[in-house]
Amino acid sequence: MNPLDKIKPRVRELKAYTLSPDRASVKINQNENPWDAPETIKRETLRRIQSRAWSRYPDFVPASLHEKLAAFAGWRADGVVAGNGSNELIQATLMVTVGEGRRVLISEPTFALYRQVATVLGGEVLSVPLDGELKFDVGALREAIEREEPDVTILCSPNNPTGCRVEHDELESLLAATRGIVVIDEAYFEFSGQTVAPLLYAHSNLAVFRTFSKAMGLAALRVGYLLAAPELAREVGKAVLPYNLNAFSQTAAEVAVELYESELKPTVRRILQERERLYENLRRVPGLAPVRSHANFMVVRSAIEPKRVFRELLARDILVRDVSGYPMLKDYFRLSVGTPAENDKLLAALGDIFSEEGKETMNAE
Ligand code: PMP
Repeated sequence: MNPLDKIKPRVRELKAYTLSPDRASVKINQNENPWDAPETIKRETLRRIQSRAWSRYPDFVPASLHEKLAAFAGWRADGVVAGNGSNELIQATLMVTVGEGRRVLISEPTFALYRQVATVLGGEVLSVPLDGELKFDVGALREAIEREEPDVTILCSPNNPTGCRVEHDELESLLAATRGIVVIDEAYFEFSGQTVAPLLYAHSNLAVFRTFSKAMGLAALRVGYLLAAPELAREVGKAVLPYNLNAFSQTAAEVAVELYESELKPTVRRILQERERLYENLRRVPGLAPVRSHANFMVVRSAIEPKRVFRELLARDILVRDVSGYPMLKDYFRLSVGTPAENDKLLAALGDIFSEEGKETMNAE
């Protein structure tokens, strides 16, 4: 008897979602905020946690966090669900919508978890490729919606890993075409200068996911949230485990929202300046072609095989993401925007790697 015969065949076929365990002092492989959470946020969180009974469960519904998130997002508190990272809410949303015979539409390349979870749950994943410029092909998405009538459509905006985003009128056209639920993963919205949250007022089938792991600088603490019509939020809540959010993370998230404008927004602004500087400088490296991004990362087309660039950078203590296994991205790697010093180090290393390659090519000729 092989116990693995009991695993769903579609799950057996899946490759696990993993991350290379490599470490480097310039860590630009996970789109995190390169600056640690400010001391003011850490200290205030510790102060509040210190005076709380650790023997008592956290709130069953973290109402005060929901209220702060609602005010921050311009939405209603009964339409907010906080989770153990937005990953948990992606899973919960798919758990209450997807099973055998249900269809999930995505646009690839994108964050790998959507396909992974929808497949594990027995759903059928339909995929529309990005266009030739690695942007959303809204026409093709609309056609796919009309033809296939997906139960759920998930778009990541700005999209991980390409950085493209869906505009309001484009989303409106998709919402008008579908009878299903539309999920917009806004894990990186703080870097894009826009959000689709205002569309929640007109669309009870829209759900927006956000996270504290990127601009908010709290990836270690695992907090994410969902914004949706209260009726929809209530259904998703049924697939979330009780006390999913521990008291520490809940408190830190509240403090981060309270202090976002003064403590975190300045880091977002600096990241955006650095993103533009990086883009301009990468464009000047012969053999590299960066792709404009609305997030705190970008993909870069490389004349040298991305796996080799990854290794060469790692040898220089810099960790990027090899995305060459993603659809359409055979020649690309992804980097997150770091601090100015980290970005200088990256640019110097890439200049070095690509000038050596240039010499080798010339010698071979
Ligand atoms: N959505 C996207 C698009 C992401 O890139 C990530 C993290 N890589 C997540 C969600 C997960 O975020 P969290 O840490 O909140 O689970």
